[in-house]
Amino acid sequence: FSPWTDPNEKPLIRFRGVTKRFGDFVAIDNLTLDIYEREFFALLGPSGCGKTTMMRMLAGFETVSDGSIELAGKDIADVPPNQRAVNMMFQSYALFPHLSVWDNIAFGLKRDRMEKAALNARVDEMLKLTRLEKFAKRKPHQISGGQRQRVALARSLAKAPKLLLLDEPLGALDKKLRQDTQFELMDIQEKTGTTFVIVTHDQEEAMTVASRVAVMDEGRLMQVATPADIYETPDSVYVADFIGDVNIIQGTAKPAGEGAYFVDWAVNQPPLLATSERPFTEGQECHLAIRPEKIAISKEKPAEAENAVTGKVLDIAYLGNLSTYHVELEGGQIIKAQTANTRRIARRDITWEDPVWVKWSKTAGVLLAE
Ligand code: ATP
Repeated sequence: FSPWTDPNEKPLIRFRGVTKRFGDFVAIDNLTLDIYEREFFALLGPSGCGKTTMMRMLAGFETVSDGSIELAGKDIADVPPNQRAVNMMFQSYALFPHLSVWDNIAFGLKRDRMEKAALNARVDEMLKLTRLEKFAKRKPHQISGGQRQRVALARSLAKAPKLLLLDEPLGALDKKLRQDTQFELMDIQEKTGTTFVIVTHDQEEAMTVASRVAVMDEGRLMQVATPADIYETPDSVYVADFIGDVNIIQGTAKPAGEGAYFVDWAVNQPPLLATSERPFTEGQECHLAIRPEKIAISKEKPAEAENAVTGKVLDIAYLGNLSTYHVELEGGQIIKAQTANTRRIARRDITWEDPVWVKWSKTAGVLLAE
């Protein structure tokens, strides 16, 4: 059983109890997951958690030790890589330097001996899809990095695979170009309807492009959900901490009625108030996870607040659109509060060493068991 299969969706890929061992080392640990048709799916996790191994098993470069992987309803264990409707695009793109853009895209189709008129039409279609019509005759070294990335994408999609695996597809591009290209990638995925599975170290990128994100740790799935759900309702401290910035306040829970809980967190401090869909018992250890932007900061005592705590400003990071304040609360805990700089900041009204209040609502955070 896995919570990450949905009987109402049509799965393109089914992992069923998949384990991958390298000698004694377990790289993928009894993993069950469905990836659906037309999905843009992202694998996220720290280095060594097994992302590449998942991709390589899908592509057929790596065998499965235990369990099975199905592609479009068929077990693929005995299907060699070149006979799977799967393609993999590498970060290096691996374009042929001596071939034109057109010939690079046509390469796989020629090898498959596609009939000439159909081949020409298909290459033209790919050039149009990736907006490369004008560059068809150029060699890879005569185009920009972003254009090379699009050639690689066009070539990967030319044979109309059911599944495209993208390993750090935008890793070679600088930040601005990368952001523009993310939207292009989403657009192309939508137009072709191909299922995309992407591995990226850039969480923001995964959150931007993917319809669902899987957070992995040590060969296991920690959570699989939409980017918004992963961010707003992580179901473990690990996931809360891995995605974005978060404050974790440790304490013990006490039911306060109607899905609300008091959280005892510091001596000589009144308890915090938090709601939770998960039940906690009296005295149960818990972690309150709150994103910095859900915490407001002020010099004056807030008139009405479900949670308000005093502290002292340790540090301010000015990020242009945002400012992040590090506040040491009474009792020693350090909290990050973030505000949007919607007005021009002429002179900061809150500065280092200032005594301040931080406040947040009872629904601002998530209460987690571990
Ligand atoms: P990164 O983000 O650094 O690319 P990853 O999440 O893609 O990491 P994998 O490459 O899938 O991680 O590796 C998962 C684990 O399996 C690692 O601990 C790695 O050392 C191990 N591993 C991968 N391939 C082999 C192999 N051929 N032999 C032995 N161990 C391997």
